[in-house]
Amino acid sequence: MKALKDKILAEGTIIGSKILKVDSFLNHQIDINLFNEIGKEFKKRYANQEITKILTVEASGIGIACIAAQYFDNVPVVFAKKHEAANLDTDTYEVDVFSFTKNKTYKVRTSKKYINSNDKILIIDDFLANGNAALGLIEIVRQAKAEVVGVGIVIEKAFQSGRNVIEKEGVKVESLAIIESIKDNEVTFQMSR
Ligand code: 5GP
Repeated sequence: MKALKDKILAEGTIIGSKILKVDSFLNHQIDINLFNEIGKEFKKRYANQEITKILTVEASGIGIACIAAQYFDNVPVVFAKKHEAANLDTDTYEVDVFSFTKNKTYKVRTSKKYINSNDKILIIDDFLANGNAALGLIEIVRQAKAEVVGVGIVIEKAFQSGRNVIEKEGVKVESLAIIESIKDNEVTFQMSR
């Protein structure tokens, strides 16, 4: 997706050799025009598939999923919560996720009320690195005996193992920008995308 790649090149900054910071349009300030284009592109990639819900994880996934949902007939968006809270139902699907950026494991939970066995779920997230967040969401869908239609990612880092991990689960990954490498402070995209 050209507009996304141009934005990454213009505004992305690199932390170390693996982390791309895109706070100016994706993870802190949000570029609504770009999010709409992202939503349309996800719809294009899943045009002929039945999708009843979009599942994501807080926090950055929520905005992306909500805008994308408007291009999928306003299907509901469910987000997995990272923090226990008194107002979260106690009957939850729950998985452990290792965070690559925070270097720690945390639990994510989704109330059993909001995913059921008839659902056909599109999982959406901002980044795909080693695949742990997406794998956790797949596990939640499977606990609910619902169907995973696919995993839609805004930015994939192909030099990490996420795609292999998800495809091994038999789930198709669609990423809107695929970064081949980050070297000498420079981002290179995969040729085909
Ligand atoms: P994974 O679970 O695939 O290893 O990592 C994906 C999650 O980690 C995403 O939900 C995202 O929040 C975060 N993440 C991984 N790599 C990056 C990165 O390069 N930049 C940013 N901003 N977040 C990342």
